Amino acid sequence: MTGLALKVLLVVLLILFPIWIPIVAISHGIYLRRLRRAASAFACLSCGELLGLESIRLADEAWADYMRQLHEQNPGMLLQVVRSVHAICPKCGARYSFIEGERTFAPANDGAALAKA
Ligand SMILES: [Zn+2]
Repeated sequence: MTGLALKVLLVVLLILFPIWIPIVAISHGIYLRRLRRAASAFACLSCGELLGLESIRLADEAWADYMRQLHEQNPGMLLQVVRSVHAICPKCGARYSFIEGERTFAPANDGAALAKA
């Protein structure tokens, strides 16, 4: 890409900035609403308890701990990580991944990564 093309692309992105930021914020809000609704209606496959909003909070905490641990173990490295656990059953600790297209959960395939967190 030439220098002029890069400059034009940068100007276009800056002009569109007030448009795409709200679009990103709204789409993230829609995602969170779908996640919460799915968690409120999904029964744990291990114990039968409804996951509920607490399961999302537990998964967020576990993920934050996991990421903090990764950054401590790899200081200064740029990490590219895909989140695999979106809900943790408050009763039995079973972990689930959110499948947004189907608006449901499936058992997480996270190995033992979050178990240490
Ligand atoms: Zn459970």
